[in-house]
Amino acid sequence: MTSPFRGRLPGGWPEDAPPRSILYSLAPYGCSGEDRESLGSYLTRLCEAHEMSRWSLTNTIVGPAAEELLHVSGARMSRDIGRAAYSLNVSGLTEQVSYWAQTLNYLTHRNTLQLCTLLPLKSLVSDFVLLAVKERFCPGCHEDDARLGRDCYDRLLWTIDAAKACPLHRLRLVSRPEAKQRRVSRSETGSSSQRQTTKYSIGEPSIHTPASDFEVETSRLIAELLDDAIFFCNAGYSASAQTVFLKHAIHQLFDGTPARFAAHLGINKSQIHGWVKGSVQMSFPRLVQTAYCCGCAIADILLGNRVMLSLRPVPSGQRRRLTQRGATGARRPKEVLQAELEALIRSGRATNATEAAVAAGISLKYLRTHFPEQQKRLVRLGRELSEFVRLEATENFNKMYLSEANALRAEGVYPSRRQVLGRLKGKVMLGRFRRIQNAHRGALAATGVSSSGATGRRMATRPSLRREDRGV
Ligand SMILES: [Zn+2]
Repeated sequence: MTSPFRGRLPGGWPEDAPPRSILYSLAPYGCSGEDRESLGSYLTRLCEAHEMSRWSLTNTIVGPAAEELLHVSGARMSRDIGRAAYSLNVSGLTEQVSYWAQTLNYLTHRNTLQLCTLLPLKSLVSDFVLLAVKERFCPGCHEDDARLGRDCYDRLLWTIDAAKACPLHRLRLVSRPEAKQRRVSRSETGSSSQRQTTKYSIGEPSIHTPASDFEVETSRLIAELLDDAIFFCNAGYSASAQTVFLKHAIHQLFDGTPARFAAHLGINKSQIHGWVKGSVQMSFPRLVQTAYCCGCAIADILLGNRVMLSLRPVPSGQRRRLTQRGATGARRPKEVLQAELEALIRSGRATNATEAAVAAGISLKYLRTHFPEQQKRLVRLGRELSEFVRLEATENFNKMYLSEANALRAEGVYPSRRQVLGRLKGKVMLGRFRRIQNAHRGALAATGVSSSGATGRRMATRPSLRREDRGV
């Protein structure tokens, strides 16, 4: 990395002076997945330390540095910071977040600020439903901050939607009222910890809601992943590792029956099928839920570890909690929703309009009215997929029919339709007459026997040979 500010050392500094940071080299708070600071929070503290607004710090220092260092748009960085949920967006796992981390690393002369973001998870987990929609906090953690005389800071763990509780204080995370936050930040005075105390009235007992064991335990699993991911973030997502783990879990806990696994998780069988086949990447909430239900770490699933598992039921009422954000879909900005829909279509996680609407938390009608283009594509996709499934099933049936017909022929039995169907019963759904008829014709054609009984070229010698063998 070349220094964009080389030659701008204050007068009198020797050329070979040891490298200094351009902004205060604040150390991020926290050292584990449970309490590590988020980059958004770090940036807020950095601005406070320089007594600059977010906008001026970004516009005059961070943006120009990013332009020179990484050749990315400084204006875009200013726009990032102007958004209400900037703290969440700067702590996520997009490319833009990596620009923030790299630039701030450079400016503060640090090298680990990317660990304050979800970037270590980037290649490991799906970003779908990963980032929280609202900023949240644990009142217990902020009380600790105030007591220890440090700034109240936001933990990286709170940026993950599936983390519903603080594993340290066993309290449910509280949504930060956006309006309140805006009003106070305009008239902010005093140290940031005091400000935070007044902002959310931390002492209020009403916001101290004890979390359920399930919420605490799943949040602990996520915190553990934040720690683990640092060490294997380069491994990347592997569909085969997911398959290895799931087969192992189905074998060890459910007697090899995927349907029982599906029932245990409260999801449908086709979803499990997609995961086991490796054609569908498990969403983050599902990963967490599966790790909880199987009594293992999330990393075990990602790495395909065949660890000892134990069955743990999901408490009733919690089943859909992890994946449901409530009907918040329509309340999100249109462009966010549109991006989410596009991601759903691209990743194959939604294969029809209904699936997409459910995943995005909107109604079918809303989808049709506001996103007609995506809706049309989804409907077409749904049609194509069902057509594809039908064709695949037919092809599979034809293959099985043919192999049974060949087996019969090898035994010297004429592969009549009745004979073949007798062997196929219980192995595959037989379906309608036309399907069977087509398979039958296909089998005869493939072996060179026409349905009228005349023998074709390829099969001509075999039946006669067999007749000779048997002395006919
Ligand atoms: Zn806490």
